[in-house]
This record gives sequence, structure tokens and C-alpha cells, in this order.
Amino acid sequence: MIEPNIPLSQPDVTDADIDAVVSVLRTPRLSLGPKQAEFEEALAAYAGVPHAVAVSSGTAGLHLALLALGIAPGHEVIVPSFTFIAVANAVRYVGAQPVFADIDPETLNLNPASVEAAITPRTRALIVVHTFGRPADVPALLDLARRHNLLVIEDACEAIGAEIAGRRAGTFGDAGIFAFYPNKQITTGEGGMVVTQDAALARRIAALRNHGRYDCRAESVRTPSPETSDNWLEHAELGFNYRLSEMQCALGLAQLSRIDSILARRESIARRYWDRLRQNPDLRLPATDIPNQRLSWFVFVIRLGPSFTQADRDRARRELAAAGIATGRYFAPIHLQPAYAAWRNTADLPVTESVTARTMALPFFNRIADEQIDRVCAALERVLSPKT
Ligand SMILES: *Cc1c(COP(=O)(O)O)cnc(C)c1O
Repeated sequence: MIEPNIPLSQPDVTDADIDAVVSVLRTPRLSLGPKQAEFEEALAAYAGVPHAVAVSSGTAGLHLALLALGIAPGHEVIVPSFTFIAVANAVRYVGAQPVFADIDPETLNLNPASVEAAITPRTRALIVVHTFGRPADVPALLDLARRHNLLVIEDACEAIGAEIAGRRAGTFGDAGIFAFYPNKQITTGEGGMVVTQDAALARRIAALRNHGRYDCRAESVRTPSPETSDNWLEHAELGFNYRLSEMQCALGLAQLSRIDSILARRESIARRYWDRLRQNPDLRLPATDIPNQRLSWFVFVIRLGPSFTQADRDRARRELAAAGIATGRYFAPIHLQPAYAAWRNTADLPVTESVTARTMALPFFNRIADEQIDRVCAALERVLSPKT
């Protein structure tokens, strides 16, 4: 019997989610309507911040947060290399220079000492990423930012619902960003959200996502009125089309309404992997319980022991693929990507380089069955055991 393949990730879309999207399609408001406002309010309330602005992706959110905070050519922004490439790309979109700092080998988040060593007179900001949904060392990084007068942008794209001392990740910095690509904890297909305590910053980001307009009523629902001037074609500054459609906002709202059960399900999947694999001396597993923090499980990334090389890891991944099991290479460091050839020798990142050679993301999604988890674990142990 050929067993069905197990994907790395899979969106969890229910009939209620589908109904929510379809009902928007029966209205005349397909963009800039009530679902956007509702989704923004619901996410702001969930995160515990006064303002949220929906955008077309997490990357768009990073771009607009940097732009609205005044990051510009001549500035340096410190970022991890052990993360998704959009983090560094967004810095380049505003003409600034990403500067890479190394990570802590245990948390896989920015190492404050490495960040401090990367600061120069041109450094203006720091992007703090909560990698794989595990909160970064926010107290130390905020303290460092305060001492050096740096802005803090929190990339919480992998960490919706994570907490530090009871406060949600994404709400500590000058701006925080969430993302809703299909592999994230909740999805809108494509989408993102910027959250902030600062009303003026939120207003500016809302204008920048809509071609630089401060009037954000949808054109499709405008009715002629002699009293109000039509300023739909007034553009205060150079903007972008980074809007999220009403269908996407309706999907986001429906998904957000289930987030507690989604995060609980993901935690139980992580615990099953952990219980099943913890005795294996070849593996280093992600921590499941951290004092004073709540994790939001984005992916389950294991690390092979120091006796394994990158070639061993890649061979194991190929053998798992041959057994119908997808895995991910989380992460390939940004400073070693061809798109970052000019940065290759600017950074000394020994932890990033050693960790990335031996990491592997296992299949992880809400609807994975217990038998599938067990099959992944059995296959993993088989491909790692020495051939005799
Ligand atoms: C997913 C993700 C993003 C945003 O990705 P989009 O595909 O643009 O939504 C940004 N940063 C990190 C760390 C991510 O994991």
C-alpha cells in the first residue's frame, strides 16, 4: 500500500470561513469596506493595542512601518540573518542598509550582545523577529534600543498570540507586524497587519497602503453629494496599493474568531512531536515551556546533533521526501543568498551558519493526524540511524 504524502503545511479553512467570504461577494463592497474595519478592530483588540492597519502582506507591513517611521537612505537597520528574507528586503525597499546580527543558539532569536556590537552612528532601528513563534528577548533588546536611541520594529509574523509576561508579542515596539500567508497560524491567503500605539503613525500607514490618500472610503460606494468635495483623487504623498480586499478581511475575521482553539491545537501537535522524539540523542528539539512566556507554534523545527553535517541533513531530507514526507529548510541564512552577495562578507555570524546547516522543519498544520505525526517520527528516526 502506498501511503499518502504528508505536506509541510496546509491551511485550515472551514465551511464557516468559506461562507464568510462568499457573503462578501454578494455585496457591492469588495474593497475598503466594513470587513476591513472589523478585522482591524478585532485584531487590535486581540493584540491589545489601539490601532491596527490591514495590508496586503507581512512584507508590505514591514515596508510601510519602516517608511512611516522615517527610515531612509543613509540609515542602517539591524536584522537577523536567520529569518525570512522579507525582513532584510523591506529595509532595502526604503533605501536603507540591513546590517546582520547573530542569534542565540537556544532561542534562535537575536542575541542582544551581537546586536550591540553591530551598532554604528548610522544605526536608526532594529527589527526584532519572534522566530518560529518563540518570543525574542524583548526586555534586553528594548533596553538596548532605549540606550542607543533606536526605533524598534517587531516582526511578529510568525508569532500571533505569543506572549511575554502576559503581554502579546508585536505590541512592545514602535510598530508590530503580523502576516497571514497560508502557512501562518491564521490565513487570509495573502495579508498582513501593522499594529501600533501611535494614532498618527497608523493614519499615515493607512494612507500609504492606499496610494497616499487620507480619504479611505471606497470609490465604488460613493454617491454624489453637493456638500462633500470628492477627494478620492487627492494623493498627499507617494503611496502604494497594499490594500487587503473585503473577501480577505472576512476570511481573516473568521479565522481570528477561532484563534484560541487553533493555537491550542498547534501546541498539542508540538507536544506530541516532543514526546515522541525527546529520547532521541541525535536531535535537539524546540523548547515547549518557557517561564514567563507563551509560545505560538508556527512550525516545528528540529536540529540535528553536532556530529551531523549539512550534507547529512540534506540527505535525510531527501530520504524523507522519498518516503512522502515534506520538510522545510528553516532557515537558509539571508546573508548567504545570491540576492545578498554584496553583504556576504560583511557579517560574522557563526551561530547562524552552524544552526542553519542542521535545522529541519517537520510537517506541522492544524489538521495533521496523530498517525501522520507518528509516521513522520518513525521515518525520521529511520533516516538518521547509522546504516549498517
Ligand atoms: C511570513 C513572514 C513575513 C511576511 O511574509 P509575507 O509572505 O509577505 O506575508 C515576514 N517576516 C517573517 C519572519 C515571516 O515569517
